[in-house]
Amino acid sequence: MLAWLMLLSCTPPVARGATAPRVAASGGTAEPTWPEAGAPLEILPLRAPRNLKRKTVFLMAGHANGAKDGNTGVHGQIEAEVVRDAVLDLAARLEALDRFDVVVGRRGDQRPSYGARIRHAERVGADAFVELHTDSRGAAYPWARLPDGWAYRVDDDPGFSILYNEGGPIGPERRDLAVATAESLAAAGFLPYPGCHYGGLYDQEGTAGVFIDRRGLMMLRRPTVPSIIIETHNAKDFEESLRWREERTAEAFAMAMADALTRFLAD
Ligand SMILES: [Zn+2]
Repeated sequence: MLAWLMLLSCTPPVARGATAPRVAASGGTAEPTWPEAGAPLEILPLRAPRNLKRKTVFLMAGHANGAKDGNTGVHGQIEAEVVRDAVLDLAARLEALDRFDVVVGRRGDQRPSYGARIRHAERVGADAFVELHTDSRGAAYPWARLPDGWAYRVDDDPGFSILYNEGGPIGPERRDLAVATAESLAAAGFLPYPGCHYGGLYDQEGTAGVFIDRRGLMMLRRPTVPSIIIETHNAKDFEESLRWREERTAEAFAMAMADALTRFLAD
């Protein structure tokens, strides 16, 4: 009963630093909120890298292991390809800042094993390990016919989430990386997912959008480098998937990541 009530009352939190939607004086129309078209994103300014030595950031794209390519989104997009391209875009933008040594873990048609990914990150001496995914969650219904089935759509579960493993000696470091990332993404206008449909898989950490992994995911548990997974958005959400194709979104995401990594690595 309690769980049912909580489910009903599960509404997305207002992004940090955001003001409540205002009502336009003329038309009485509320400003769009993420992920609606026109909802604003901020390009966070690059803070001065005081006490920041040059550090190595390992960027990994989820899936493409064995025959597994992750979820299929509402527009028919394949997760393994979406996140591979998002990682390459993020890497190029971070490299342009000349602030971090950026190493990309998977390109093109590469399908490295999970073990090889972890060894790669450790071999290059990475200081942070960030893996991108898109999420697939919520009450889905058939939306469009695909050559081999259906694309499903979800209407009320947008937002990003950051997953980490709290166990072991570097649990607190992983948490710091997760919290910094969620704070910066929210400050840029991305919506923290409130976790309505995570059940027992992930527990809310306390910072909006941050979740503790209870599944024991290998990429969060095994690396000796602090690692997080970013579920950038819900691939089943029609508008949010479109927003993640926009240049502005890629730029806002990259500068939020630069902000988070600078704060995490400068400590
Ligand atoms: Zn995934």
